[in-house]
Amino acid sequence: RRAGYAKLRDVEPRTKDGVRIEVMMNAGLRDDVAMLGMTGADGIGLYRTEFQFLVSAALPARERQARLYREVLEAAKGKKVIFRTVDIGGDKSLPYLVNKTGEEDENPAMGWRALRLSLEREGLLKAQARALLEGAAGRELNVMFPMVSEPWEFDEARKVFEHQVAYLRMRKHQLPSKINYGVMLEVPSLAEVLDLLLDRIAFVSIGTNDLTQFLFAADRSNPALAERYDWLSPAILRFLARVVKTCAPWPVDVGVCGEMGGRRLEALALIGIGLRRLSITPAAVGPLKELISTIDTRALSVRMDEWLAHPPPDMRAALRDWAQEQGV
Ligand code: PEP
Ligand code: MG
Repeated sequence: RRAGYAKLRDVEPRTKDGVRIEVMMNAGLRDDVAMLGMTGADGIGLYRTEFQFLVSAALPARERQARLYREVLEAAKGKKVIFRTVDIGGDKSLPYLVNKTGEEDENPAMGWRALRLSLEREGLLKAQARALLEGAAGRELNVMFPMVSEPWEFDEARKVFEHQVAYLRMRKHQLPSKINYGVMLEVPSLAEVLDLLLDRIAFVSIGTNDLTQFLFAADRSNPALAERYDWLSPAILRFLARVVKTCAPWPVDVGVCGEMGGRRLEALALIGIGLRRLSITPAAVGPLKELISTIDTRALSVRMDEWLAHPPPDMRAALRDWAQEQGV
């Protein structure tokens, strides 16, 4: 099997009916980037920049951040890399970051984390923005913000980047050749107002790990709940289908970067509702490429539309049977 996946490494992932699916991988350490070549992924759909912070005793200096970003882009050899600004706070808390109340979050997943923290600790976001701009000098920079809950949070974060762009330009430093800004959609509130943001973002990346936790109000790290809700539930799939539909009229790329996309039937469902970019754990890249080559997207999307309108009692079983019937 492994040898079979290696054969797919240099093959563009296309469905049986010729639809190109972008298969990207998630990463967080510089050494992960080597997996791009090994797996043949199209790029890094989620680079979790907080890893560098979590393994450092103190806030990593801007120069160190910039060096890491430059090394990641060099190692990616021209493939697309989407950097996510830090998602720290909450359960990934750091001793040198304390919120304004001085108290620890009682409910860290819904607490002072990610972009909420970055916007309040503006020095931290400024330094990261500058480091990303410097690290990507002369190259394309793709940056996304985690846990955006309302459009103004995106606007504020982008403003911090644009100030740094203006500063570097004034100083005649080399800038990235292009900057694409995007949001992670992992807080359900954003989906309700996403249309208000589509005129000024390049991409949306759906974080199904947090999104599921917030949709079902079920802690993603609580093992007592791990088996209770299924990613293949009509609630999630209808939600995702609606996001795809909202974005469709705009030149905005929509992808999934949560763990859901790395599972066989889940990936099938995601492609069935129109998603064309999946970013997954490196080990799942080969199996996903193989799966994609067996799919007829037209037949699949007709079937998914029917199932979303009239959900079968067991979506997972229905998808499994259908896949078997179709030789997927
Ligand atoms: C997610 O929430 O789905 C996601 C990709 O981000 P993380 O797992 O880092 O929270
Ligand atoms: Mg998340």
